[in-house]
Amino acid sequence: MIRFAKERRVIVWEEPVFGEPARTPRLDSTVCAESGVVVLTPVLPDGSAPEDHASMLRGLLDTVVAAIEGDVVRWYYTPMMLPFSRHIEAICTVYDCMDELANFKFAPPELTLLERELMNLADVVFTGGYSLWEAKRDRHPNIQPFPSSVDRAHFAKARVLRSEPQDQAALPWPRLGFYGVVDERMDLGLLTALADARPQWSIVVVGPVVKIDPADLPRRPNLHYLGGKEYEELPRYLAGWDVALMPFAINESTRFISPTKTPEYLAGGRPVVSTPIVDVARHYGDLEAVKIAATPDEFVAACDQALALSRLRGDWLKAVDATLSALSWDETFARMDLEISRAAARRGRSPAAQITSSPTSSPVIRPAARKKPFDYLIVGAGYAGSVLAERLTSQLGKRVLLIDKRPHIGGNAYDEKDAAGVLIHRYGPHIFHTNADEVAGYLSQFTRWRPYEHRVLASVRGGLHVPIPINRTTLNTLYGLDLTSDDEAKAYLESRAEPVEKIRNSADVVISAVGRELYETFFRGYTRKQWGMDPSELDKSVTSRVPTRTNTDDRYFTDKFQNMPADGYTRMFENMLDQAGITLELGVDFEDVREEADYDRLIFTGPIDEYFDYRYGKLPYRSLAFRHDTLDQEWFQPVGTVNYPDESTPYTRISEYKHMTGQTCRKTTVTYEFPQADGDPYYPVPRPENQALYKRYEALALETPGVQFVGRLATYRYYNMDQVVGQALATFRRIAEREGRAVMAAQTAGRAVAAS
Ligand code: FAD
Ligand code: UDP
Repeated sequence: MIRFAKERRVIVWEEPVFGEPARTPRLDSTVCAESGVVVLTPVLPDGSAPEDHASMLRGLLDTVVAAIEGDVVRWYYTPMMLPFSRHIEAICTVYDCMDELANFKFAPPELTLLERELMNLADVVFTGGYSLWEAKRDRHPNIQPFPSSVDRAHFAKARVLRSEPQDQAALPWPRLGFYGVVDERMDLGLLTALADARPQWSIVVVGPVVKIDPADLPRRPNLHYLGGKEYEELPRYLAGWDVALMPFAINESTRFISPTKTPEYLAGGRPVVSTPIVDVARHYGDLEAVKIAATPDEFVAACDQALALSRLRGDWLKAVDATLSALSWDETFARMDLEISRAAARRGRSPAAQITSSPTSSPVIRPAARKKPFDYLIVGAGYAGSVLAERLTSQLGKRVLLIDKRPHIGGNAYDEKDAAGVLIHRYGPHIFHTNADEVAGYLSQFTRWRPYEHRVLASVRGGLHVPIPINRTTLNTLYGLDLTSDDEAKAYLESRAEPVEKIRNSADVVISAVGRELYETFFRGYTRKQWGMDPSELDKSVTSRVPTRTNTDDRYFTDKFQNMPADGYTRMFENMLDQAGITLELGVDFEDVREEADYDRLIFTGPIDEYFDYRYGKLPYRSLAFRHDTLDQEWFQPVGTVNYPDESTPYTRISEYKHMTGQTCRKTTVTYEFPQADGDPYYPVPRPENQALYKRYEALALETPGVQFVGRLATYRYYNMDQVVGQALATFRRIAEREGRAVMAAQTAGRAVAAS
C-alpha cells in the first residue's frame, strides 16, 4: 500500500471498535507520515444493536467516498466488509484473498456466501499464496497467485544488529524464536514438546495472542511469550535468535497459508524449522536452510540440525540469498497495478479499449485486439506456442496473444483435407509416438487417439522393399539368408561391423554397427540428400535415431505410446486453443506486432537467430519441398512411408497418409520430400560448430529479460513433437513456479482498502 500511495490516495478501512455508548458513530484516522496512507477506524457506540452496524458503517464510508475526487478502486481483504460497501461505484474491485478465512476459528457463517458474492463482483482476485490459488482458481476467471515477497533490506538488519531489546536480552542461549500472531494455527503441543525436549534452549514467542485465552498457553521455564511488537522492531528480535521457528499445526486453517515470515526469517539470515506447510515446502523446501519436520521428534532433531547450521556461514546462506533475490515487492506492486489498469480498461474506462479503426497494412490484424493488454505474446502456434498458450491461460488465468505468420495453427504438424478429401500433412508425414506419460496424458485432454504403429520400407537395389530399421528380415531378404534367432543375426552383423575406436559422427554410428556395405545401401545416400552433407560431417545423434535390430520387429518406433490423433492434428490444436484467455492472430509476423502489441512477456518459438537479427551469423537449417500427389486409386504403397536411400533419386521418401489416419477413401494422396538448402527452416543441422554458434545465441537469450525461447527452432534442437510438448510443459512449470515465488500481497487480513 505504501507503493500504491505514491500514485494514488490510499485509505485503509479498519474493522470497527466500540466507544462510549449512545454517541454518534465516528471515524478515527491516522496518517502514515512516510507514505501518506490514511488508516480509518470506525468507532461505533458500545451497546448498539449488531443489526444497525452495517448502516452506521455505510453512513461513515459514504462521507469518505463523497470527498474522493476521481475514480475509486475497491480493494477487499475480507468479504465481511461487503455489506456496507457493495454499493460504492468503482472502476475496479480487487479481492486480495490472503487465507481460506472460512476455515478459521469463529469464522462467521455468512462468510462463505459473502465470499461468493465478492468473487462474482471482483474484476481481479489475488491470492496470498500458491496453494490458495490452486484451491480457488476455478472460482474466478482472473485470479492470480501472489505469494509473499520480502522487504529484504529491513530484515537483513538482523544479520548485523547487536543491540538487544530489553525483554530478550537476558534470555539464555541458544535461542529459537517465532514471531507472528499466536492463534489456533499454532501447534501448542509441539511448542511444549520442544521446550521439554531441550530445557537448555530458550523458546521465544513474539506476537499478539488472538482468539485463544492466554491462560491456555503452555507454560515452561524456557518458554517466553514477549507479546506483540511493531514491524520496525522485528529484526532486532530476530537478530537475537539462532534459529527461527514455524510451529504451525497442520490442519484446515493452515492448509492454504503461505507465511510471509519464511522469506523474512531467511532474509534475516536465520535457518528455519517448519512443520510441513505446503507452500513452505513447495517454495523453500529445497533450501538447506529450511528444515521441514512433521512430528515433535523430527522437529527437535531438525532444530538440532538448524542450530548446527546457524554456526556456519557457509553455502547455505548463499543459496538463501539467491532464492530471495527473485522476490521483490516492487514487482508485486507493478503486476498488481497493471492488473488494476487492465480491469479498468475492460470496464471501458480506458481509451485504449475503445480503438476500433481498421488497419491498412495487414488485413488480418484487428488493432483493438492488439492494443488489448496481454500478459504474454507468444510467437508461433505450433506445439511449443500452443501448449504454452493453453497452460498459461487455463492454469494461470493469463491473457495471451498468440500469433503465427502462417495462416493456420499447428505449426509443422498442421493437417488438412485436400481437394480429394484426403487428410494430409501439409509439411510432411507426422507420426506421434512417445514414452512420456505426461505428454500423452496432457495431449489426451484435447483429442481421442487412433492406434497406429508406423512401418517403413526402404527401396534398394532398384526396387527391392526391405524393412528399415535394419532387422533380421532385412538381412535375410537382402542376402538370401535364413537367420532364425537374435543371436544368429547379431553374430552376422558383428561379422560385417567395422569397429570404430570412438564413435564421433553419423557415419561411425552405422559402420560400427552393420559395416560399410549396409551403411552405403541405407544411410549414406539418404543422409547426403537429406542434409546436403556426408554422414561423417554430422553429429552422431542424427543416424542414432534409427536403431539396428536383430529381431523381426519392423515398426519404425518402439515407444510405448504410438497413436495418431483420431480427428487429426489440427483438430487437436483447435481444442487446445479453445480458451477464453487466448487471442489468436494468424498471418501475423512477429515484426508486425513487436513494438505495437501491449504485453509483459514474450515467448518466441521461431528461429532464435532470426530473433536476434542474425547478430552472430545464420544458424544453418535444412529445408524441404513437398510434392503432394493425389492418385485415382485406393492405395499406392504397402506401408506409411517408403524410403529411397539411393542418391540418384531426388526425393528421400514417399508417404501415404491413409495408412496413418485410417481414413477410407476411393483416392489416395502421397507426399514426396525433396530436401533443399533454402526455404522454410525445418531441421536444425546437428554439427558441433552449429551447436557452438547456437550456444552464443542461447547466451544472448539468457541475458534478454522477459523473453523465453521454446521449441525446435528456438532452442535449435532436432526434437520430435513429444519432446517439444515436454519442453513446453517444463517451461510452463518453471513459469508457474517463478510466479508462485516472485509475487505477493500485503499481509493485512481483516481490512478493506479503498484506493483512489
Ligand atoms: P513449429 O511447428 O515449427 O512451430 C513454429 C511456428 O512458429 C511456425 O508455425 C511458424 O510459422 C511460426 N513462426 C516462426 N517465426 C515466426 C515469426 N517471426 N512470426 C510469427 N510466427 C512465426 N515429429 C514427430 O514427433 N514425429 C514425426 O513423424 C515428425 N515428422 C516430421 C516431419 C517433418 C518433415 C518435419 C519438418 C518435422 C517432423 N517432426 C516430427 C518434428 C515436428 O514437426 C516438430 O517437433 C514440432 O512441430 C515442433 O514444434 P514447434 O512448436 O517447436 O515448431
Ligand atoms: N536415415 C537414413 N536412412 C534411412 C532413414 C534415416 O540415412 O532410411 C538417416 C538420415 O540421416 C535421417 C536420420 O537417419 O535424417 C534420421 O531419420 P528419421 O527417420 O528419424 O528422420 P526424420 O523423420 O526426422 O526426418
